[in-house]
Amino acid sequence: MTNWAVFRRLLRMVTPFWKMVLAAVLLGTATVLSSVGLLGTGAWIIAKAALHPPIGDLNVAIVGVRFFGIARGAFRYGERLVSHDTTFRVLTRLRVWFYAALEPLAPARLQRYRSGDLLARIIADIRTLENFFVRVLAPPWVATLTAVLLTGFLAAFAPRLGLAWLVFFLLAAVAVPVWARLRARRAGQALVSRRAALNAALVDHVQGLADALAYNYAEAQRRLALRLGEEILTAQAQMASLEGAEQALQILFSGLGMLGVLLLGVPLVRAGALGGVTWVALVLVALSGYEAAFGLPTAAAFLESNLAAARRLFELVDAEPAVKPPAQPAALPADNDLRVEALTFRYAPDEPPALRQVSLDLPEGKRVAVVGPSGAGKSTLIALLLRFWEYNEGRITLGGRDLRALLPDEARSRFAVVRQKPFIFSGTLRENLLLAAPEADEARLDAVMEAVRLADWLRTLPQGYDTDLGGQGLQLSGGQRQRLALARALLRDAPILLLDEPTANLDAITERALVDTLLETTRGRSVLWVTHSLVGLEAMDEIVVLYKGEVAERGIHADLLARGGLYSHLWALQSENLVALNM
Ligand code: ADP
Repeated sequence: MTNWAVFRRLLRMVTPFWKMVLAAVLLGTATVLSSVGLLGTGAWIIAKAALHPPIGDLNVAIVGVRFFGIARGAFRYGERLVSHDTTFRVLTRLRVWFYAALEPLAPARLQRYRSGDLLARIIADIRTLENFFVRVLAPPWVATLTAVLLTGFLAAFAPRLGLAWLVFFLLAAVAVPVWARLRARRAGQALVSRRAALNAALVDHVQGLADALAYNYAEAQRRLALRLGEEILTAQAQMASLEGAEQALQILFSGLGMLGVLLLGVPLVRAGALGGVTWVALVLVALSGYEAAFGLPTAAAFLESNLAAARRLFELVDAEPAVKPPAQPAALPADNDLRVEALTFRYAPDEPPALRQVSLDLPEGKRVAVVGPSGAGKSTLIALLLRFWEYNEGRITLGGRDLRALLPDEARSRFAVVRQKPFIFSGTLRENLLLAAPEADEARLDAVMEAVRLADWLRTLPQGYDTDLGGQGLQLSGGQRQRLALARALLRDAPILLLDEPTANLDAITERALVDTLLETTRGRSVLWVTHSLVGLEAMDEIVVLYKGEVAERGIHADLLARGGLYSHLWALQSENLVALNM
């Protein structure tokens, strides 16, 4: 995307607010012109008073000073009010737009970004765009309007006065910002990339603190953060000295502009073409008019960072979702038989298939287990069922209808998932349960908590359902987390339950207890249970053994054991562990 294309696209996002932009520009110009008026009339009064005129001659100018003095504040206030109001509206729109665009991309298209990097980047980039309106869009228009009006005003007294003023105005308003941008490019880029790196490093560091400490890795992390911090400081110092140079140059040019009007006025006053008092007033008018140029270097800097931020956001948003909803979605079928037929899937065209010719039948109300060592493709199968990735070879049907013909969101409503590491949202227990079934009443919550055997625990909580589970529910034990996740899945009341290694992080005793609960609570529901641990599989209607993406064996527990294949091999290995554990 060229800068120009990014700029146009950004502009289009603020076009609904053009009236407010216009109001801000007019108010901004009025503010500058009030300063000009204030200094002009003030100078005029002082110069005139030196000549000892009757006091009545000054009256009009005195009113002028009062008017411009008050108007300046009022206009500035109005301008700030309008700009900030617009900024927040634009920002709200941006955030909603961005979230809506991002959601369909998760998780397939976002996996190549590191989570800390992605999050920090999105937040910072959207924050950067908040400047687009106030600091980028409005100032050049204010400067242009002021320049036209003041050049015209000065030229009305003598064309050369207007011309001299304009030349220095262009130097201050155009040449200085352009020069500064060219100089600042390297330091600016360093600043942005170092900041992103620091954010990512900090998120990594905080999230991995326990491991970092255990492996004495914390010191290295700390040094990395320090180094990045120092690099940021250097870049910031460079930027700051450049900013100082910018301001100095602008003040220099405005001084020279004033001097120009002063000197060019001398022959005019001598020749009687210009009144002496007027001349003094014009000199100060010239000086104060340069105020309109002072915001422009910042505008140029912000334009650059805004374009970079917008480009990154657009790139992210423009990524094609892994799964495109069908143009004419079919209606959800009434029944819930799930069928996988000769499914083959690769994560990328050049990668070996993660699933190869996998077939599977899950009639309504039956329970099927998919087992296999890690890397066998079990989670991939679940991701495909949930439509996180697109598949092209083979078929998945729900109630006889191809999953690809259904809207992904609607198809997903038939599934409830319990994952290996369920996410517990910060908030109360009640909130964590109700997100699965917002309208569930307390009796229903009680019933579910009873079913997943959390009722006793619940009774020990002084605040009951209103207990705060804190940041990501860290004070829950592994077993409790899984039970809570199961409660959520049961509350959701979806016909098909997907269990994605729910017992993977648990010790053998907790696992056994959870498996019992799982088997109890899911009786009569469709269950697809993905696991590498073979506890509790006797109760399954079918067991599908996956190995390297292919179905190696299938059958019920007893038959598979008798057959002496991969399943019985895995069984023997795990029984050995169990025996060792019992000793
Ligand atoms: P399991 O759940 O049985 O441990 P997975 O379904 O996670 O196995 O993985 C199957 C294969 O697919 C593995 O070789 C793994 O490296 C690969 N794989 C899994 N997830 C991704 C992904 N997001 N991108 C690329 N390859 C992946």
